[in-house]
Amino acid sequence: MKKSGKKRIELFDGFSTRSIHAGEERNRYADSLTTPIVQTSTYTFKDSREIKEFTSKKKDRFEYGRYGNPTEKVAQQRLADLEGAEDCLIFSSGMSAITTTILALIRTGDHIIITDDAYKKTLEFCNAYLARFGVECTVVPFGDYALLEHSIQKNTRFIISESPTNPYLNIFDLEKLKKIARKRDVLTIIDSTFATPYNQRPIDFGVDLVMQSCTKYLAGHNDILAGSIAGRNELVEEVRKMHKGMGGLIDPHCCYLLLRGLKTFPLRIERQNESAMAIARFLEKHPMIRKVYYPGLKSHCHHTIARKQMRGYGGVVTFEMDGTLKTANWFLDALQLLYIAPSLGGVESLITHPATVSYYDYSRKERYSLGITDTLIRLAAGVEDCDDIINDLRQALDYCKSRR
Ligand SMILES: *Cc1c(COP(=O)(O)O)cnc(C)c1O
Repeated sequence: MKKSGKKRIELFDGFSTRSIHAGEERNRYADSLTTPIVQTSTYTFKDSREIKEFTSKKKDRFEYGRYGNPTEKVAQQRLADLEGAEDCLIFSSGMSAITTTILALIRTGDHIIITDDAYKKTLEFCNAYLARFGVECTVVPFGDYALLEHSIQKNTRFIISESPTNPYLNIFDLEKLKKIARKRDVLTIIDSTFATPYNQRPIDFGVDLVMQSCTKYLAGHNDILAGSIAGRNELVEEVRKMHKGMGGLIDPHCCYLLLRGLKTFPLRIERQNESAMAIARFLEKHPMIRKVYYPGLKSHCHHTIARKQMRGYGGVVTFEMDGTLKTANWFLDALQLLYIAPSLGGVESLITHPATVSYYDYSRKERYSLGITDTLIRLAAGVEDCDDIINDLRQALDYCKSRR
């Protein structure tokens, strides 16, 4: 290898290596090792010649904060690299990524398809808000591939789904999805937040656009909100135009935190995959547990699909306790280490009780029709020592058992 001149990191394709180095120039401002936070809202032109060079597209440069930022650009290039995509866009939140992308792709009179086991806010946006603009939305039960294919109309623009889903961690068969969509020339969008590009790369399966709530594993420290979409140049460009006008920009400091999180994300996710598997196995054996949902377990209904298309099964484990709403509350109150909070993917382990947190405003009957039972718990493993997480769960579950 040559000892000087331009360094070629593209020669190194390890996932951890690329998570640290991909997408950035080797020579940075003031020889800084890290990518600088370019905290500016606008960029200056030296003179009229520079303006002309820019407007005639002779020179690619930054113009105004809403249209791009150097720190943001590095994060976009790195994420595109990790997803195996041509291009990527970063947003101020996962929901900003989802809504901006959808608005960029649809016109009045279009039809879209979404699976019923989708992020609550995404489902709400597609099902309730898009109708206002004359966009028809069909909600298809997750896993019903025949009905999915049957629901495609002449005006269907895209199929959107998640995989794995929240909280049951259902897995969408991405090969089947592509076969169905290709036949009818429909775009496919997958929200891959629970998997991350480490565990699953939908683009490799022919999916057109991949979304991430970078708030979760990619940033990984429970301290920022961010979102991304990645895919082919022309599709991402279409969304970029909308993004410039909608303005859901990530600020440069947040972007730096995202870049910083990305450097350790493969390490974290490996630990989280491992811990979640051990936690799932522990829970399966505990007498207070009725059922455990984890795609890495043979007992999970989509274990075979997960094994086929994922490298690891992720850091979230969902389980149903024996008992009633009261038992679930005893359990939450007895936890000493785990924080009670919505969200997932950060270094701190979090536990949430969907019935009283994200579905508090639903009637019990509505909740149960969606599978959100009184004793359903979602655990998102952090990177603490796995034995400590399990010990906390054990003492809280044993406490519930003793009170019954
Ligand atoms: C959190 C989440 C979102 C929304 O992302 P925000 O960053 O909170 O806006 C979308 N989809 C999934 C699967 C999520 O977990």
